[in-house]
Amino acid sequence: MDRLAYLRALGITPWHLRASQPVSADPPVEPAEPAEIVDSMAYQPVQTSDLQSIDLTALRHHVSQCQACELHQTRKHTVFGEGHHKVDWLIIGEAPGADEDREGQPFVGPAGQLLTQMLRAIGLAREEVFITNILKCRPPNNRDPKVAEIHACHAYLDRQIQLLEPKIIICLGRVAAQALLQSELAIGKMRGQIYHLGRQQNIPTVVTYHPAYLLRSPREKRKVWEDLKLARAHLLSLA
Ligand code: SF4
Repeated sequence: MDRLAYLRALGITPWHLRASQPVSADPPVEPAEPAEIVDSMAYQPVQTSDLQSIDLTALRHHVSQCQACELHQTRKHTVFGEGHHKVDWLIIGEAPGADEDREGQPFVGPAGQLLTQMLRAIGLAREEVFITNILKCRPPNNRDPKVAEIHACHAYLDRQIQLLEPKIIICLGRVAAQALLQSELAIGKMRGQIYHLGRQQNIPTVVTYHPAYLLRSPREKRKVWEDLKLARAHLLSLA
């Protein structure tokens, strides 16, 4: 069974996805191990229906108390996200790292500093965007999030998007892009086009590389610049 089939089998709420261009085939990611599926059944995912009537402040508190997956056992802080509650831009990364776990804020380490520079390059201050992650707790040793953890945490991001009503979403890195777009494609195949996320909202979404990857591969910064310009141009076209 491939990764998408696993996601469906787990009952992950599907996002409405509409790409501006057909998505081409690409080598699939490694399928999840069966043991991961066994793990996943031990979690009781947060239910979207439990969050429907709460605002962002209450949602932040809900996250801070969450024990829906095993990551609550090793976290120092939950990382809900930061930014104003009414913003045009929503930035979604993968999961908190060590610095973020310690401080309870997203993107505060070297990757966060690079993200700040990336935003400045298109004329945005961090205060003008909302930044969050797919997971609200740090996976130990910065390992990739498990499918079961993404499943357990998914409703929080879903509710954040509903409440924030961003005009555009920037998806940082492979894990976030594959989870949000329910795709197996390599990130190089996903970037460079506009997707639309959300069941009703159809929020324009652009995929680009994670700043942590750019720290290791600085030559890819040019591609991120192109992706951010694509997002900005699309947003301006909507005005
Ligand atoms: Fe809850 Fe998400 Fe943290 Fe898991 S990662 S404990 S689901 S807030």
